[in-house]
Amino acid sequence: MAIKLDATGPMMKDYHSDNRCTWCDGCGNYGIWTGVKSALTELKIAPDQCLLCFDVGCHGNGSDKLKGYRFHGLHGRVLPFAAGAKIANPKLPVIAFGGDGASFSEGIGHLVHAVRSHYPITFVLHNNGNYGLTTGQSSSLTPQGQPMNTAPNGMPEMTLNSMDFIFSLEPTFVARAFSGDIKQVTAVLKEAIRHRGFAFVDILQACPTYNKFATHTMLMEKYYKVEDEGHDPTDFKKARALAIDTSKRIATGILYRTENVPNFYERLVPRQGKTTTAVEEVEKFDVTELMKELL
Ligand code: SF4
Ligand code: MG
Repeated sequence: MAIKLDATGPMMKDYHSDNRCTWCDGCGNYGIWTGVKSALTELKIAPDQCLLCFDVGCHGNGSDKLKGYRFHGLHGRVLPFAAGAKIANPKLPVIAFGGDGASFSEGIGHLVHAVRSHYPITFVLHNNGNYGLTTGQSSSLTPQGQPMNTAPNGMPEMTLNSMDFIFSLEPTFVARAFSGDIKQVTAVLKEAIRHRGFAFVDILQACPTYNKFATHTMLMEKYYKVEDEGHDPTDFKKARALAIDTSKRIATGILYRTENVPNFYERLVPRQGKTTTAVEEVEKFDVTELMKELL
């Protein structure tokens, strides 16, 4: 997918918004927010050359904390909007952001179909293991038995193994990063944005206010970079095994990637051979006669 490059390129300050961040001190959202701006800047994508789509959640409150075309939608529904926008205008890089709560509960159906449809968009999972915006509600990714504000005696449900679930859908790009490592977040996002189809990026972040089980320090001590250990990102089986087992260490980096699968847009027969986008093909249409039939 062609990405429009600026001759000189944008700078981080071009993404600056005068709206002040309202996240708690120490929140992992700051690292992801910085990494997103850094990745877009390094790819020479200006704020008016991309679309950033935010789900509801603490991360979503960052939607007006940076410049650019932005959308802030309904809870769990960010992916259909992002996919639709991309199909209408495939020249535009589209990044969707969602939390672990909405993405693996209210929006899980959309996530399934985004992976299997192979929409050419990037999805960034703000993974803090709980619903922070609703003050520490357990999510599908909270460890079973963990006391939370909505489950003071411990979360009774089983925890969803999110990475096993994603790999079961035969994704074409899976990466994981740690929000405290902004260089890594930047590098992973750049590759995700360059990916041919649907890129799933799991970013582990601290929520110091409500998540007492996966702190910034714990994540920092457990994460390691798979590229440092010679991981081959074309090895699906190994990538899945590395992604799933976080008991002792947490594998981060590009876990799996293939560029050999045509994306959704490339498979759309009516779009094949077109040199224009649907957005460019919009024309004025007189609906007067049509309305008479309806009235
Ligand atoms: Fe961040 Fe948690 Fe505060 Fe939300 S509640 S802003 S996720 S630290
Ligand atoms: Mg969350």
